[in-house]
Amino acid sequence: MSLDSPLPAPLSGRHALVTGAGRGIGAAIARRLAEDGARVTLLGRQAAVLDETLAALPGGPHFAVTADVAQPDSVAAALAAARQALGPVDILVNNAGQAGSAPFLKTSMALWQRMLDVNLSGTFVCCQAVLPDLLAQGRGRIVNIASTAAQKGYAYVAAYAAAKHGVVGLTRSLALELARQGITVNAVCPGYTDTDILREGVAHAVAKTGRSPEEVQAEFVAGNPQRRVIQPREVADAVAWLCADGAGSVTGQCISLSGGEVMA
Ligand code: NAP
Repeated sequence: MSLDSPLPAPLSGRHALVTGAGRGIGAAIARRLAEDGARVTLLGRQAAVLDETLAALPGGPHFAVTADVAQPDSVAAALAAARQALGPVDILVNNAGQAGSAPFLKTSMALWQRMLDVNLSGTFVCCQAVLPDLLAQGRGRIVNIASTAAQKGYAYVAAYAAAKHGVVGLTRSLALELARQGITVNAVCPGYTDTDILREGVAHAVAKTGRSPEEVQAEFVAGNPQRRVIQPREVADAVAWLCADGAGSVTGQCISLSGGEVMA
């Protein structure tokens, strides 16, 4: 290699599947992994949203496919299409999620079940679907986007926090099971991040309490010692690092991206 040659892209030759990749944190992760040279499959429920994000990705080829992560048959069909388009998967990022809130006594079974289905069972379903590809190649990366609500409690989100704590248990157990197979499994735990989930959370609290959006947002940010929301790109940067070869010894970890809100 001459001194003028650019360094090879760290994820060149890898196929990364990102769930919930049409917008928010998932779109930022898809873009970052594409910038690092990966071929990316974007998975979500809305084709038009996925296609818009897909069209803006650098490099390629990339692929978009619709599926509901809480539906195993839907995930299996999407994965078959992704394999056909881009080959076996090397990297799975379980990012799809929803954050419903309610006081505990008003948390319906429907809300409880939806939080578990999408955030926890969706992660389980996608891990089970993709794992045979990683095992066959003797290497791979799984990164689960959990939350600081996986590391501590917050009022009015018991169902979401329970599901995200569950993601951490899944992450740690699977990491041990795969530790000698060349596959790492980690969780990234962002604090309040600048996406639709945060905007919807602020709007919900404004509607419930009559406070101004500025007051509600200030209360959210007050828990972060840096007094700011996290940017999706910051989450994407952490994911990209975990996916690179240099992070091969990092497994079973929950990396808090929260300005110091969680220290453990
Ligand atoms: P977002 O902008 O609302 O994006 C959520 C994504 O998940 C969307 O792309 C959505 O796509 C997808 N999704 C939701 N339900 C799905 C399902 N059943 N099947 C497939 N895809 C589904 O929220 P975000 O903030 O980027 O959230 C991404 C992840 O970060 C979530 O796991 C969330 O819990 C976590 N997180 C967010 C924050 C925050 O403050 N924003 C903090 C900590 C952790 P479609 O609706 O098009 O299907």
